[in-house]
Amino acid sequence: MFEKILIANRGEIALRVLRACKELGIKTVAIHSTADANAMHVRLADESVCIGPPPVRDSYLNIPNILAACEITGAEAVHPGYGFLSENARFADILTAHGVTFIGPTADHIRIMGDKIEAKATAKRLGIPVVPGSDGAVTTDEDAHRIAAEIGYPVLVKASAGGGGRGMRVALDASEMSGALSAARSEAKNAFGDDSVYIEKYLLKPRHIEVQVLGDGQGNAVHLGERDCSLQRRHQKVLEEARSPALDDAARERIGGIVARAMAELNYRGVGTIEFLYEDGEFYFIEMNTRLQVEHPVTEMITGIDLVNEQIKVANGQALTFRQSDVHFNGHAIECRINAENPATFAPSPGKITYWHPPGGLGVRVDSGVYQGYTIPPYYDSMIGKLIVHGRSRAECLMRMQRCLDEFVVDGIQSTIPLFKHLLAQQDIIDGNYDIHWLEKWLATNPFQA
Ligand code: ADP
Repeated sequence: MFEKILIANRGEIALRVLRACKELGIKTVAIHSTADANAMHVRLADESVCIGPPPVRDSYLNIPNILAACEITGAEAVHPGYGFLSENARFADILTAHGVTFIGPTADHIRIMGDKIEAKATAKRLGIPVVPGSDGAVTTDEDAHRIAAEIGYPVLVKASAGGGGRGMRVALDASEMSGALSAARSEAKNAFGDDSVYIEKYLLKPRHIEVQVLGDGQGNAVHLGERDCSLQRRHQKVLEEARSPALDDAARERIGGIVARAMAELNYRGVGTIEFLYEDGEFYFIEMNTRLQVEHPVTEMITGIDLVNEQIKVANGQALTFRQSDVHFNGHAIECRINAENPATFAPSPGKITYWHPPGGLGVRVDSGVYQGYTIPPYYDSMIGKLIVHGRSRAECLMRMQRCLDEFVVDGIQSTIPLFKHLLAQQDIIDGNYDIHWLEKWLATNPFQA
């Protein structure tokens, strides 16, 4: 096993990885920007290295400095967390060239899945159902019109290099097609330096359902069930749950089986998430994330499997120690992403946390990197923690989440806790009756005055 791992991230995920390392008896190296010198991941790690000033391009994305930190400390492997360099194939290649293990899939698999057109073609080849649309990039306006007419309006124009919901435009009918194409192209060019786009059928009321997979790169892969992440604002997930209230066991086994077989065939190593839109009983692949996800704890809560522990073991060359038949889904889990934001306007609210009282009790998990007296720097993501709750049933889980939100006190800054209290009292949420547009429609009614 590795003796020392460098954690190339910050915040709650750096802590999450650090915990898994400690439980495996592995020493940890934290890296941090000058703004994060007092962060909890720095305090809890065995060693820490300052790798640059606050802007992420100079610190958490600074590959030469991270590599130097590996050399100085003798770290044998790097865990990238999520975001930052976690899906950067070049980073994986550079580490490998320097004899440092990247805890994640091969650089080739990151590359394939990082290009949406190639990812979709690969998914299709592996027998994963995809959204009807163009076969690859669309170059001319005539082709775009012809393909859109074939699949039927409305359609979505998507950037091949897309991410974070950017470079996407809906065309409701043929008259909107040229405008959607040029808008998507120019946004993609600006954001990603690549203006290639493709076309997909635009689904009107889908759910976002994603399947968690784990492979060992030795031909073995299992699925760990699905997460329902339909509650989104601006394509950002807000609340996630497992299992999905929309799936029964047969649908779960069907899609899980397809995905696990595909990952075994790809010889995939590490954790990954296959994201689908789900409408009228059908699954449609949208993308694969080749890393740990923010919402991975809901899967851990219902399977009892520590995903980071498994990631580290397969990166170390070990084969999976369990089979699909050993994976059982127990009860229900929900995660609320707690952000330092005004709960009505979503304006960021950095500053000093003067009081911090997280909830506790049976089935309650708080993954957070903050503490009382900590000052949230203004440079990074506004998520300050995740409240994850497990219950024997969905109803019990919802009651427990409400109880926890009532107990949770954060003073000195604003947080999204009051929003969740209100959201979880909505009948549609209690009934599990929501699609990917539900949250934005509800927010548009201005339901909540802070
Ligand atoms: P990104 O990588 O930019 O996040 P995704 O392909 O994952 O892009 O899509 C982000 C979100 O956009 C999805 O979660 C869904 O809400 C919406 N979306 C994507 N493709 C479609 C589609 N074909 N029809 C309807 N909505 C879609």
